Amino acid sequence: SCSCHLSGPIETTQCDYETVESATEVLFDRLGQLVKMPFFKYYKVDLFRECPFWQEDGLCMQRTCAVESMDESDVPEHWRAEALSRIKTSSDPNAHIYPGCYYSDSDFCFLDDDTSEDSQYIDLTLNPESYTGYAGESAHRVWSAIYDENCFGMKEKTLPDAAEAPAIGSSIAQLALESKAELEEEGECTEKRVYYRIISGMHASISTHLCYEWLDQSTGQWGPNLPCFVSRVASHPERLQQIYFNTVLLLRALTRLEPYLAAYDIRTGDAAADSETKQMLTSVMDVAKRVGRFDERGLFKGENAHLLKEQFKATFRNVSLIMDCVGCDKCRLWGKIQTSGVGTALKILFELDDRALHPKSNPNLLQRSEIVALVNSLHRFTESLHMTGRFRQMWAESESKR
Ligand code: FAD
Repeated sequence: SCSCHLSGPIETTQCDYETVESATEVLFDRLGQLVKMPFFKYYKVDLFRECPFWQEDGLCMQRTCAVESMDESDVPEHWRAEALSRIKTSSDPNAHIYPGCYYSDSDFCFLDDDTSEDSQYIDLTLNPESYTGYAGESAHRVWSAIYDENCFGMKEKTLPDAAEAPAIGSSIAQLALESKAELEEEGECTEKRVYYRIISGMHASISTHLCYEWLDQSTGQWGPNLPCFVSRVASHPERLQQIYFNTVLLLRALTRLEPYLAAYDIRTGDAAADSETKQMLTSVMDVAKRVGRFDERGLFKGENAHLLKEQFKATFRNVSLIMDCVGCDKCRLWGKIQTSGVGTALKILFELDDRALHPKSNPNLLQRSEIVALVNSLHRFTESLHMTGRFRQMWAESESKR
């Protein structure tokens, strides 16, 4: 059955399904325009980094997996590698630097080093998330590694062995194993559920996209596949709930960023487009304030709060590394963007207070890539809700014909 009508409060938020529902179309429309603007459509990413956890040789050679990169000379000069290397984040004393990536203590994700030779600019509007055909053992291995992380129930098999671990994962593995023992006794906790809900919501959103932008291999036609959506998402209402949860979480993070974004340098060399971008951001913010009712103060409090948060961060950073194990370029691209988008939201909500988010006291707090990932991920989630609405109509039509 298609249990895709939800009502009542969304767990751990102050929002309900009806409120999100009432704002979905306007949000989807405004975000859809925003992500086409030059500031938001170019994303620099390293799609060549090796999987640090296992030998990944299931590279998908299908055309549907391919990502079209662009020439760096087509992006504004101050975004090119040479200019970026002059203001390199590695000058941050808290940055932990690894080959091709780094993180700072407050980050929930590894960030790609956008000065590295392997990082390339992608025009996201030319590489939309869709059905790629990536499936089977490789895809399942990635999903199960991500679920196995599940906050405090980490299974060693997904973590690099301390002796064999590549430098990149060992410190995380160590931290995870040390804090695991201390936290294991606490059993289920809100934060663990939040971790699961974030991941399950991302998974459900990816499933919704691939079912909506589906390629029928027998006819070569692209179009929505209702049975696919029913079996992967709608027959598991809790999966759909998690898409709403992620939407509210990201909306809340965006509203907290309002003063910071208002002062952010979004110049792209096209003054008219940039001023339009600012206006669009304001109009998205208007809706975000109404819907993004998530109270971050309810999490990471109490006796073990600090340890719990460090554990959560280490776990989520691991997820960002697991994305380098995805054997399909387009899936890897959107997997990395969404992990980074959610990671940025978590950082804004749980690491940065209003003083830290003040544009004057902390102008270089967020990389452009983090802001672009946050907004594009929010667009993905609202697009999934929009697609769900279309699937509901298809379901109603098919029922009326019975
Ligand atoms: P999967 O989706 O692989 O799920 C595996 C198992 O996880 C299921 O059997 C179920 O038990 C459980 N599960 C499924 N959904 C949820 C949920 N929401 N919450 C909790 N548990 C769940 N394919 C594309 O065509 N396009 C893409 O853009 C794309 N991006 C991907 C990005 C990443 C990071 C990964 C790992 C995979 C991606 N894939 C993509 C592949 C896709 O997600 C599926 O793995 C693939 O279609 C095979 O689906 P499946 O039916 O075997 O189940």
